[in-house]
Amino acid sequence: MSVTLVKTIAEVRDRVAQARAFGNMIGFVPTMGALHAGHTRLMDQAARETGWTAVSIFVNPLQFGPNEDFTRYPRNLEADLEMCAKHGVELVFAPDVEEMYPSKPLTTVDVARVGEHLCGAYRPGHFQGVATVVIKLLNIVQPDKVYFGEKDAQQLAVIRRMVADLNVHVTVIEAPTVREPDGLAVSSRNRYLQPEERKAAPVLYRTLELVRKRVKEGARDVEAIKKEGLTLLSTEPLVRVEYLEIVDAQMQPVSEIIPPVRVLGAIWIGSTRLIDNLLC
Ligand code: AMP
Repeated sequence: MSVTLVKTIAEVRDRVAQARAFGNMIGFVPTMGALHAGHTRLMDQAARETGWTAVSIFVNPLQFGPNEDFTRYPRNLEADLEMCAKHGVELVFAPDVEEMYPSKPLTTVDVARVGEHLCGAYRPGHFQGVATVVIKLLNIVQPDKVYFGEKDAQQLAVIRRMVADLNVHVTVIEAPTVREPDGLAVSSRNRYLQPEERKAAPVLYRTLELVRKRVKEGARDVEAIKKEGLTLLSTEPLVRVEYLEIVDAQMQPVSEIIPPVRVLGAIWIGSTRLIDNLLC
């Protein structure tokens, strides 16, 4: 399989128009690169469900805060292209920052409420950056189906709401979280972890599983369940908890558990921030 690398918006539009002219349905997987099994899960699904798949690889400066890991975010285009080629991808769009943002955008997308709590509270401007780049990418590629991972559940909720509110002509498809054998969600940021930190990291998944178990058992006291979860997280001295929350489908913290709810957690291990979540 061969994959075509393009760097310009004009060329993406040409290639997509050609693919459409041949009667293909267009699938699209937006990523920041440093591709792994979570991304290939999305690509495989896109390739299965559409005739022609495009992947974008763009580390979007707009969604990183001033003290976040934009400059050290892992970049490896060669390896990424190889992975795309193996997973049925036809086109990789890897623009420079100047191609996407010739000047600082004056128009941005803010999805209120859904993007307010959880990561939105700890990463001001993050979801505005995500929503803005995703609407731009959707306008550039104009896919029939766009694929996102459940791993970033709040991001997915923000995108779904934006697509609904702005009548974007695309179907949003969710793919389940791919995990390491010990439960740790696969992530480009896992490669920052030192060996001892990597050993500690699965405590996040174990905590989410404990919360899910309690909900399934019928526990309804949010504070008591959270307390038990935080106690489990505190057994790992390398872990600093950012949040552990139980929310509804609109990403609003609940005061009473009426399933389905979702438990989401964010932790720091050393200088690495990890997030994960489970539907309960
Ligand atoms: P990223 O490159 O981190 O921006 O992720 C690109 C897409 O891959 C997003 O839709 C993520 O939710 C998805 N993704 C990242 N990690 C995983 C994973 N472990 N399982 C499933 N999807 C994932």
